[in-house]
Amino acid sequence: MPQKIAAGNWKMNGTQANLAEIQTIAEAAQDIHSLAIICPPAHLLHSAASLPGPLAIGGQNCHHAPSGAFTGDISAEQLADCGASYVILGHSERREGYGESDSLVRDKARAALNSGLTPIICLGESQEQRVGGRAIEVVLAQLTGSLPDDAEVIIAYEPIWAIGTGLVPNVAEIAEVHDALRAQLHAIFAKGQDISILYGGSVKPSNAQEIFAITNVNGALVGGASLKAEDFLPIMRSLAES
Ligand code: PEP
Repeated sequence: MPQKIAAGNWKMNGTQANLAEIQTIAEAAQDIHSLAIICPPAHLLHSAASLPGPLAIGGQNCHHAPSGAFTGDISAEQLADCGASYVILGHSERREGYGESDSLVRDKARAALNSGLTPIICLGESQEQRVGGRAIEVVLAQLTGSLPDDAEVIIAYEPIWAIGTGLVPNVAEIAEVHDALRAQLHAIFAKGQDISILYGGSVKPSNAQEIFAITNVNGALVGGASLKAEDFLPIMRSLAES
Protein backbone atom coordinates (compact mmCIF):
# COMPACT_ATOMS: atom_id res chain seq x y z
CA MET A 1 0.00 0.00 0.00
CA PRO A 2 1.36 3.47 -0.83
CA GLN A 3 1.98 5.69 2.16
CA LYS A 4 -0.23 8.77 2.58
CA ILE A 5 2.03 11.82 2.44
CA ALA A 6 1.44 15.55 2.85
CA ALA A 7 4.59 17.37 1.76
CA GLY A 8 5.11 21.12 1.97
CA ASN A 9 7.42 22.99 -0.40
CA TRP A 10 8.42 26.31 1.15
CA LYS A 11 10.44 27.38 -1.91
CA MET A 12 12.54 30.53 -1.23
CA ASN A 13 10.29 31.67 1.62
CA GLY A 14 10.94 31.94 5.32
CA THR A 15 13.52 33.00 7.89
CA GLN A 16 14.27 31.81 11.45
CA ALA A 17 11.11 33.65 12.54
CA ASN A 18 9.00 31.19 10.53
CA LEU A 19 10.33 28.13 12.35
CA ALA A 20 7.40 28.59 14.75
CA GLU A 21 5.05 27.48 11.94
CA ILE A 22 7.09 24.31 11.42
CA GLN A 23 7.11 23.72 15.16
CA THR A 24 3.30 23.95 15.27
CA ILE A 25 3.04 21.50 12.36
CA ALA A 26 5.54 19.10 14.01
CA GLU A 27 3.65 19.13 17.32
CA ALA A 28 0.25 18.57 15.68
CA ALA A 29 1.64 15.77 13.48
CA GLN A 30 1.69 13.62 16.62
CA ASP A 31 -2.08 13.16 16.39
CA ILE A 32 -2.46 13.02 12.59
CA HIS A 33 -1.81 9.62 11.07
CA SER A 34 -0.27 10.41 7.71
CA LEU A 35 3.35 11.23 6.95
CA ALA A 36 4.09 14.96 6.98
CA ILE A 37 7.20 16.38 5.31
CA ILE A 38 8.25 20.03 5.23
CA CYS A 39 10.89 21.14 2.73
CA PRO A 40 12.13 24.52 3.99
CA PRO A 41 14.88 26.58 2.38
CA ALA A 42 18.36 25.16 3.04
CA HIS A 43 19.33 27.57 5.82
CA LEU A 44 16.39 26.33 7.96
CA LEU A 45 16.91 22.60 7.41
CA HIS A 46 18.98 21.84 10.48
CA SER A 47 16.81 23.85 12.87
CA ALA A 48 13.62 22.37 11.39
CA ALA A 49 14.99 18.84 11.67
CA SER A 50 15.87 19.46 15.33
CA LEU A 51 12.28 20.29 16.33
CA PRO A 52 10.48 17.66 18.41
CA GLY A 53 7.59 15.79 16.76
CA PRO A 54 7.05 13.24 13.98
CA LEU A 55 7.72 15.64 11.12
CA ALA A 56 10.12 14.65 8.33
CA ILE A 57 12.29 17.28 6.66
CA GLY A 58 13.34 17.51 3.02
CA GLY A 59 15.52 19.61 0.76
CA GLN A 60 14.20 21.31 -2.39
CA ASN A 61 17.04 20.33 -4.74
CA CYS A 62 20.50 18.77 -4.68
CA HIS A 63 23.50 18.51 -6.98
CA HIS A 64 24.08 15.22 -8.77
CA ALA A 65 27.75 15.06 -7.71
CA PRO A 66 28.73 14.00 -4.19
CA SER A 67 31.08 17.00 -3.70
CA GLY A 68 33.34 19.34 -5.62
CA ALA A 69 33.72 22.77 -7.19
CA PHE A 70 30.04 23.68 -7.56
CA THR A 71 29.68 27.12 -6.01
CA GLY A 72 26.31 27.73 -4.45
CA ASP A 73 25.10 24.14 -4.74
CA ILE A 74 24.27 21.61 -2.06
CA SER A 75 24.87 17.85 -2.18
CA ALA A 76 22.52 15.09 -1.11
CA GLU A 77 24.98 14.13 1.61
CA GLN A 78 24.93 17.71 2.94
CA LEU A 79 21.11 17.67 3.02
CA ALA A 80 21.22 14.41 4.97
CA ASP A 81 23.84 15.94 7.28
CA CYS A 82 21.30 18.69 8.11
CA GLY A 83 18.73 16.06 9.09
CA ALA A 84 16.79 15.82 5.82
CA SER A 85 15.32 12.46 4.77
CA TYR A 86 13.69 13.59 1.50
CA VAL A 87 14.52 15.88 -1.40
CA ILE A 88 12.25 17.43 -4.04
CA LEU A 89 13.76 16.94 -7.50
CA GLY A 90 12.71 18.13 -10.94
CA HIS A 91 10.23 20.73 -9.71
CA SER A 92 8.92 22.64 -12.73
CA GLU A 93 10.51 25.83 -11.36
CA ARG A 94 13.89 24.08 -11.71
CA ARG A 95 13.10 22.37 -15.00
CA GLU A 96 11.96 25.70 -16.51
CA GLY A 97 14.15 28.20 -14.66
CA TYR A 98 17.41 26.22 -14.66
CA GLY A 99 16.94 24.00 -17.72
CA GLU A 100 16.94 20.76 -15.73
CA SER A 101 16.41 17.76 -18.02
CA ASP A 102 14.94 14.37 -17.22
CA SER A 103 18.38 12.78 -17.29
CA LEU A 104 19.75 15.36 -14.84
CA VAL A 105 16.80 14.71 -12.53
CA ARG A 106 17.57 10.98 -12.76
CA ASP A 107 21.24 11.61 -11.83
CA LYS A 108 20.13 13.74 -8.88
CA ALA A 109 17.72 11.00 -7.79
CA ARG A 110 20.57 8.47 -7.85
CA ALA A 111 22.73 10.85 -5.79
CA ALA A 112 19.87 11.30 -3.30
CA LEU A 113 19.39 7.55 -2.92
CA ASN A 114 23.14 7.04 -2.47
CA SER A 115 22.98 9.42 0.50
CA GLY A 116 19.94 7.75 2.04
CA LEU A 117 17.42 10.38 0.92
CA THR A 118 14.09 9.54 -0.71
CA PRO A 119 13.62 11.64 -3.87
CA ILE A 120 10.26 13.31 -4.51
CA ILE A 121 10.32 13.44 -8.31
CA CYS A 122 8.06 16.12 -9.85
CA LEU A 123 6.38 15.79 -13.24
CA GLY A 124 3.81 17.92 -15.01
CA GLU A 125 2.61 19.30 -18.29
CA SER A 126 2.33 22.93 -19.39
CA GLN A 127 -0.98 24.62 -20.23
CA GLU A 128 -0.14 24.38 -23.91
CA GLN A 129 0.58 20.65 -23.67
CA ARG A 130 -2.69 20.04 -21.81
CA VAL A 131 -4.74 22.03 -24.31
CA GLY A 132 -2.99 20.12 -27.09
CA GLY A 133 -4.13 16.81 -25.57
CA ARG A 134 -0.56 15.77 -24.72
CA ALA A 135 -0.66 15.76 -20.90
CA ILE A 136 -0.43 11.99 -20.42
CA GLU A 137 2.24 11.54 -23.10
CA VAL A 138 4.39 14.35 -21.61
CA VAL A 139 4.08 13.19 -18.02
CA LEU A 140 4.81 9.53 -18.81
CA ALA A 141 7.88 10.52 -20.84
CA GLN A 142 9.12 12.63 -17.90
CA LEU A 143 8.52 9.69 -15.57
CA THR A 144 10.48 7.24 -17.70
CA GLY A 145 13.32 9.74 -18.20
CA SER A 146 13.60 10.87 -14.58
CA LEU A 147 13.26 7.62 -12.63
CA PRO A 148 16.33 5.96 -11.10
CA ASP A 149 16.55 2.14 -11.10
CA ASP A 150 15.14 2.00 -7.60
CA ALA A 151 11.55 2.01 -6.40
CA GLU A 152 12.36 3.98 -3.22
CA VAL A 153 10.91 7.17 -4.68
CA ILE A 154 7.85 9.39 -4.35
CA ILE A 155 6.21 10.83 -7.47
CA ALA A 156 4.49 14.23 -7.53
CA TYR A 157 2.21 15.11 -10.45
CA GLU A 158 2.15 18.90 -10.66
CA PRO A 159 0.55 20.43 -13.75
CA ILE A 160 2.62 23.58 -14.28
CA TRP A 161 -0.47 25.70 -14.99
CA ALA A 162 -1.94 24.75 -11.58
CA ILE A 163 1.09 25.76 -9.47
CA GLY A 164 0.42 28.94 -7.51
CA THR A 165 -2.44 29.94 -9.80
CA GLY A 166 -5.54 28.76 -7.93
CA LEU A 167 -6.41 26.66 -10.99
CA VAL A 168 -6.87 22.92 -10.37
CA PRO A 169 -7.55 20.17 -12.92
CA ASN A 170 -10.93 18.51 -12.48
CA VAL A 171 -11.28 15.15 -10.73
CA ALA A 172 -11.36 13.18 -14.00
CA GLU A 173 -8.22 14.93 -15.27
CA ILE A 174 -6.27 14.21 -12.08
CA ALA A 175 -7.53 10.60 -12.02
CA GLU A 176 -6.52 10.01 -15.63
CA VAL A 177 -2.93 11.12 -15.03
CA HIS A 178 -2.55 9.31 -11.69
CA ASP A 179 -3.96 6.08 -13.14
CA ALA A 180 -1.52 6.30 -16.05
CA LEU A 181 1.39 6.96 -13.68
CA ARG A 182 0.36 4.01 -11.50
CA ALA A 183 0.18 1.67 -14.51
CA GLN A 184 3.60 2.79 -15.71
CA LEU A 185 5.18 2.44 -12.25
CA HIS A 186 3.67 -1.02 -11.97
CA ALA A 187 5.11 -1.95 -15.36
CA ILE A 188 8.60 -0.73 -14.38
CA PHE A 189 8.91 -1.90 -10.77
CA ALA A 190 7.73 -5.05 -9.01
CA LYS A 191 6.86 -2.73 -6.10
CA GLY A 192 5.27 -0.07 -8.34
CA GLN A 193 1.92 -0.47 -6.59
CA ASP A 194 3.50 0.78 -3.35
CA ILE A 195 4.99 4.03 -4.64
CA SER A 196 3.15 7.11 -3.36
CA ILE A 197 1.87 9.42 -6.11
CA LEU A 198 1.16 12.94 -4.83
CA TYR A 199 -0.89 15.60 -6.55
CA GLY A 200 0.42 19.19 -6.46
CA GLY A 201 -0.97 22.48 -7.73
CA SER A 202 -3.11 24.88 -5.68
CA VAL A 203 -4.04 22.32 -3.01
CA LYS A 204 -5.88 24.17 -0.22
CA PRO A 205 -7.89 23.16 2.86
CA SER A 206 -11.05 23.78 0.76
CA ASN A 207 -10.23 21.29 -2.03
CA ALA A 208 -8.04 18.73 -0.23
CA GLN A 209 -10.85 16.33 0.68
CA GLU A 210 -12.09 16.10 -2.92
CA ILE A 211 -8.57 15.57 -4.28
CA PHE A 212 -7.66 12.89 -1.70
CA ALA A 213 -10.81 10.92 -2.59
CA ILE A 214 -9.41 10.27 -6.10
CA THR A 215 -8.05 6.76 -6.73
CA ASN A 216 -4.26 6.66 -6.94
CA VAL A 217 -3.87 10.05 -5.27
CA ASN A 218 -1.82 9.22 -2.18
CA GLY A 219 -1.26 12.72 -0.89
CA ALA A 220 -0.19 16.18 -1.92
CA LEU A 221 2.83 18.35 -2.57
CA VAL A 222 1.72 21.75 -1.32
CA GLY A 223 3.36 25.11 -1.98
CA GLY A 224 1.60 28.26 -0.71
CA ALA A 225 -0.72 26.48 1.72
CA SER A 226 2.20 24.80 3.50
CA LEU A 227 3.64 28.08 4.78
CA LYS A 228 1.06 28.46 7.56
CA ALA A 229 0.19 25.72 10.02
CA GLU A 230 -3.44 26.89 9.97
CA ASP A 231 -3.61 25.95 6.25
CA PHE A 232 -1.35 22.89 6.20
CA LEU A 233 -2.85 21.12 9.23
CA PRO A 234 -6.38 20.83 7.75
CA ILE A 235 -4.79 19.39 4.58
CA MET A 236 -2.89 16.83 6.70
CA ARG A 237 -6.13 15.97 8.53
CA SER A 238 -8.11 15.54 5.29
CA LEU A 239 -5.43 13.16 4.05
CA ALA A 240 -5.40 11.12 7.24
CA GLU A 241 -9.21 10.82 7.07
CA SER A 242 -9.29 9.91 3.36
C1 PEP B 1 4.45 23.66 -5.68
O1 PEP B 1 5.15 24.61 -5.91
O2 PEP B 1 4.97 22.52 -5.63
C2 PEP B 1 3.02 23.87 -5.52
C3 PEP B 1 2.23 22.85 -5.67
O3 PEP B 1 2.61 25.15 -5.23
P1 PEP B 1 1.10 25.64 -4.87
O4 PEP B 1 0.53 24.64 -3.89
O5 PEP B 1 1.29 26.98 -4.25
O6 PEP B 1 0.33 25.64 -6.14
